[in-house]
Amino acid sequence: MTSKRNKSGMARAQIQPPESNPYVAPSRRRLDPKLTGPAPSQVAIQAIEVCQAIQSIDGSVTLVADKATLVRVYIDQLTLASGVRLAGEIKVRNSTGAPATYVAALADVTVDPKATPTRLEQRNLIQSSLNFRLPSDATKTGKLLVEVNRIWLAGGSDLTVTGTKEASATFVSAPPLRLRCIGLRYRDNATGQAHAPDAVHFAYLRSFLERAYPVPSVEWSQIVVDANFIAPFNDQTVLKANAQIAAIRSSEVNNGMDPRTHYLALVDDARGKNFMRGRAMGIPAAAAPDTVASSPCGVPNGFAGDNDLSYSDWYGAHELGHTFGRYHPGFPRGAQDASDKDFPYQNGQLSNDDQKFVGYDLGDSTLGIPLQALSGTHHHDLMTYAERQWICAHTFEAIRSRLIEEDEQFALPIA
Ligand SMILES: [Zn+2]
Repeated sequence: MTSKRNKSGMARAQIQPPESNPYVAPSRRRLDPKLTGPAPSQVAIQAIEVCQAIQSIDGSVTLVADKATLVRVYIDQLTLASGVRLAGEIKVRNSTGAPATYVAALADVTVDPKATPTRLEQRNLIQSSLNFRLPSDATKTGKLLVEVNRIWLAGGSDLTVTGTKEASATFVSAPPLRLRCIGLRYRDNATGQAHAPDAVHFAYLRSFLERAYPVPSVEWSQIVVDANFIAPFNDQTVLKANAQIAAIRSSEVNNGMDPRTHYLALVDDARGKNFMRGRAMGIPAAAAPDTVASSPCGVPNGFAGDNDLSYSDWYGAHELGHTFGRYHPGFPRGAQDASDKDFPYQNGQLSNDDQKFVGYDLGDSTLGIPLQALSGTHHHDLMTYAERQWICAHTFEAIRSRLIEEDEQFALPIA
């Protein structure tokens, strides 16, 4: 069902603006001559964007309640006479009647009227806006009002703010992803060595699902058990892996495990020596959380454009996506079947070339993963076999709907 090896390519996802980019705050101590000029007294805001894993320029992607959320405030640089560094603060208020909360920007933004990037270009550069991470109280189910409270010259005085000073967003409740991740420890018959997934592969998968999937949280548990197969692997290996964890799931659900829990196996690739092609037991047309899947894990070394410590994250998210009924978009052409007839974007991208959609990875400080904007034309949906994978709005909304169906149909009756 899935073959994703034999890929090579560019480093994943990090937006590394060139030296000349005006939005990178200079780290030197002297005042940057480009930034000198008459101090402005006012500034105009072009737009406010509220975003999670993926967002369109018109804010059409559903916001999941209690999920990490970013607010981006875009300054209209043409209202300034010269380059300035600005700091900001927003005021957020939700419909629960709780008092307003004030949130400071994560960093200053440098805005230069001599550089005139379009809004589309600005969205692809996380440093080109004032960015605010919403506190958890602000992402409760219901409506949120965002108001720009203050913008001031970094280290200086407040400016009069004009333009789009307010925005609203609606957060929709969603069930968590319930996942039990089972590492299968196998023996390599050729070397006598045993192989089990390192902790980093569990950690990367869990973090990726929390960041990319349309869920407030991941109810996660993990365990390592002995596999009922050995290496070298063959075409039957993944079928045995799926059969084994389906049996484990059945037994655990009979003993009280929440029946909405998905089960995913991780099988270590022994530094590329024993690569087990991933596979889901099926692609259910309706809610079926008992559909299990298995994924390989290991160090990517450029696999599908990934150069971090593990590829278990997007690979596992792909196999898990099948268990939520997701098919293949069909990219790269010829390398993947096009079984998802409704996939809406060119080349398996997160966006058509109009750049309507941008992916947002809000990062994970425990894994050293930074906040990033992921260009919708440079990154690809995780159901493809293409490079630099993230979730597109089509997949985000479809998994969100399926999770709600599963949550309603498989909840245990309250005793
Ligand atoms: Zn697949």
